[in-house]
Amino acid sequence: MSDRKINFNAGPTALPLAVLEQVQANLVNFEGNGLSLMEMSHRSKVFGEVIERSKETLSGLYDLPDTHEVMFLQGGASLQFAMVPMNLGDGGTYLDTGTWSTRAIAEARTLGRAVVPWSDAENGFRRVPQQDTLDELELSGPYLHYTTNNTIYGTQYQYIPKASLPLVADMSSDFISRPVDVSGHDLIYAGAQKNAGPSGIVVLLARKEVVHSFKGDDRVPKIMRYATQAAKGSMYNTPNTFGIWVVGLVAQWVADRGGLAAMADENEAKASALYQAIDEHPLLEGHAADDSRSRMNVTFRAQTPAQEAQLLTLASEHGIIGLKGHRSVGGLRASIYNAVPRTSVDALITLLRGFKG
Ligand code: PMP
Repeated sequence: MSDRKINFNAGPTALPLAVLEQVQANLVNFEGNGLSLMEMSHRSKVFGEVIERSKETLSGLYDLPDTHEVMFLQGGASLQFAMVPMNLGDGGTYLDTGTWSTRAIAEARTLGRAVVPWSDAENGFRRVPQQDTLDELELSGPYLHYTTNNTIYGTQYQYIPKASLPLVADMSSDFISRPVDVSGHDLIYAGAQKNAGPSGIVVLLARKEVVHSFKGDDRVPKIMRYATQAAKGSMYNTPNTFGIWVVGLVAQWVADRGGLAAMADENEAKASALYQAIDEHPLLEGHAADDSRSRMNVTFRAQTPAQEAQLLTLASEHGIIGLKGHRSVGGLRASIYNAVPRTSVDALITLLRGFKG
């Protein structure tokens, strides 16, 4: 469809066109059942099969060990900032790599303590800690929380931390973009609206032992306990049925392209081509340190805000949208999630190369 924009939004953002078309074809009459999925009971056999399929597809992508299960919750990744300390216990250790981890820390502190042995705030959040730095930190409490990809600053861990504590990962902006060994994690959570589907749904890859037994404070409301949802297969209350379906379709789309390793190769190729164009450009400069560059959100600046405004106008004349940096940091950002095709990245590279200021 040529009337569609070239979309570099940070999220919600581009979904695979094939998935949108599949949704369109089944929107009014879901898989021949005579009604829309949105008009169907979440207790129906048909929806029961949909949620199982979505869980199975995601489990298959991650080669999920038997110790873990997939859950679908609501309330955004932001609700997880609160649910993690409510359920896993007080005094967790957090690595502060920018806005979203800062918010997770602040939320933990509304309830109790959060230990923060590392922050890159003074440097403008240009990097994530490397393993040798982690090795020197004092870690304490029930878990180590890290943000795998920092959507606003454009930094990303290029490794899975090894730590003496179970890991909790906010994987909102690089979920299903590359293989991850889930086994060291008590919890991985991801708001779906970047790589995995529409907004309004959070996917969890959770250690069963952790989410099936509640060890927190008695005053934690039942709805805020993982155990409540885990006991009911994520259907204690009415789930986001539409979102669960679409996340499953997106996961299947990734599986059909060869799975997470193939996806990672595509993402790596897109990101390195774009970083190269930025590095070679006399007027542009990347934000993130080399060892921490995100394959999902490429953040950069021109020499002046006026040049950036000029670039945004030029982009929009070419049907290219979403390049404005987050309002808190300014600059420019191209979010190149799974569903952004190489052709879109190439169109951006051509635009940048032609930009003379
Ligand atoms: N964590 C990260 C890494 C994010 O990018 C975002 C959203 N941009 C959030 C958490 C917050 O997600 P939500 O809006 O779903 O609460």
